[in-house]
Amino acid sequence: MNDCLDEEKGTINGGEGGSVSIKQPNGTKTPSEAPNHATTRRHKTNLPTISHPSNALRFLHKIQAPHNASAVDSSPLQAELPLNIIVVGGGLGGLATSIALARRGHSVTVLEQAHELGEVGAGIQIPSNSSLLLERWGVGTFLAGKAVEPQGITIRRWQDGSKIGYTKLIPEFRENFGASYHVVHRAHFHEALYSRALQLGVDVRVDCRVVTYDDEDASVELANGTTLSADLIVAADGIKSAARQLVLGGRDQKPKPTGFAAYRATVDVEKILADPDVVWLLEKPSLDIWIGEDRHVMTYTIAAGKSFNMVLSHVDRSDPQTWDNKTALDDMRREFSGWDPQLTKIIYMINKTIKWPLCAGTPLPRWVAPSSKLLILGDAAHAMVPYMSQGAAMAVEDGAALAMVLNSINNRSSIPFALKVFEKERLQRTSQMQQASMANGTIWHFPDGPQQEARDEAMRPEVEGKHFLSSANQWSDPVTQWWAYGYDAEAAMKDACDAAVSDLISKAC
Ligand SMILES: Cc1cc2nc3c(=O)[nH]c(=O)nc-3n(C[C@H](O)[C@H](O)[C@H](O)COP(=O)(O)OP(=O)(O)OC[C@H]3O[C@@H](n4cnc5c(N)ncnc54)[C@H](O)[C@@H]3O)c2cc1C
Repeated sequence: MNDCLDEEKGTINGGEGGSVSIKQPNGTKTPSEAPNHATTRRHKTNLPTISHPSNALRFLHKIQAPHNASAVDSSPLQAELPLNIIVVGGGLGGLATSIALARRGHSVTVLEQAHELGEVGAGIQIPSNSSLLLERWGVGTFLAGKAVEPQGITIRRWQDGSKIGYTKLIPEFRENFGASYHVVHRAHFHEALYSRALQLGVDVRVDCRVVTYDDEDASVELANGTTLSADLIVAADGIKSAARQLVLGGRDQKPKPTGFAAYRATVDVEKILADPDVVWLLEKPSLDIWIGEDRHVMTYTIAAGKSFNMVLSHVDRSDPQTWDNKTALDDMRREFSGWDPQLTKIIYMINKTIKWPLCAGTPLPRWVAPSSKLLILGDAAHAMVPYMSQGAAMAVEDGAALAMVLNSINNRSSIPFALKVFEKERLQRTSQMQQASMANGTIWHFPDGPQQEARDEAMRPEVEGKHFLSSANQWSDPVTQWWAYGYDAEAAMKDACDAAVSDLISKAC
């Protein structure tokens, strides 16, 4: 792990007698090394060492070393120990991970069981913590003209659509968190990742179903009998992951039904444009969520505004085996009857829908097999309800963190240590996001009454444009915002790595 002490370090020796001028991952230099116009014009103060959470320190960093965190980083620091890595699963998580690894110089093969690459469902949100990484990795180019940037997120009352909560996204999210909040068609997101992966030389193979993992050997056997070996196997094989059981030593910890289900659908925008009662929904790009007892409906436009995406969630404890997709459309309409007439008008414009059970996992004891040659990430490791719109974002972060931690080593014997650091950081981050997602289900689904009234009251200042220090709306609450959207998975992994090395050194001394 010596590299954690030098290459990507930057500050570890700072407290031990001096400023260290070390190259940053993006090839730029630290303030002490780079001629920085902002800092040469201003009085330069040594940044204090602090351990308490403080946005004031962010401010000091910003004025002393302004940089665009989401600028395309076309020459990332390369791994000193380039590895052959197999990623199982060509979903959003697998492809994002392949990009994160390939751009650092690893040789990556993605194995996808499907005959064709693709994504189920229509829209997906790409929150700032994910778009920061994607833009940095050069994926943004492939999303240009396809992703939509909503102006804000409006939480509405189930009965009449009146505003209960409001999160302003433009320009706050880009200004504060360094990257915009986007919504996009899943197919476009997937295509963008695929294109960037190919550009980076990732070998993406379809029709390659892994039937056996060998975690001691770092090999996989495909359904056609072929065996493929690597230095490391990354299983991004989704919620039904077969690798998870092996990582957990034979006792799988499967994600379980949460008692929530969602209807997923799209509406042709021409229909909405033709109806004067609801056309306002398309006036500007926005995210709207109607919330009520046991249910909520999330809407936004995708495909550069050509399609209107809807996710209609409700409490449903029945066995998914008993669900009949032929009745899904009627069931969905019945489920939301009596809701805001403008919303139900749009619900009646839906021609077809799929009902989806929402499952969630609980924090796993580990993500990395004892051999340190197989690990899981993405939904395989941290399935969650989609109420923070962060499932795929967490998978993108996983990929970023893995590539970063592998950059901190220069010999194979350090791989187990590096993967432990990765596992610890990602377990904490994703477990908290699982909880935050579940919390939205609680906050949004109160029946009308004192709790609902107190919740609406707690969000009122943001609707009225008043200053607030906290909110029951997690998108707006300043503490939740900085934690969720102000997280840079690469920087956080580097910090975790530095801390782990310092810890190791102090224990050895
Ligand atoms: C209703 C809903 C709305 C959501 N909205 C959002 C949102 O707005 N924002 C967000 O960030 N997330 C959202 N999510 C979550 C997001 O969709 C998932 O977290 C994400 O797609 C998981 O990606 P993954 O690559 O880990 O898994 P998957 O997408 O499940 O990919 C796994 C891949 O592995 C392949 N595979 C599996 N087994 C094998 C095998 N043995 N051999 C080879 N290949 C194999 C599969 O075919 C599949 O392609 C939402 C989820 C739902 C249900």
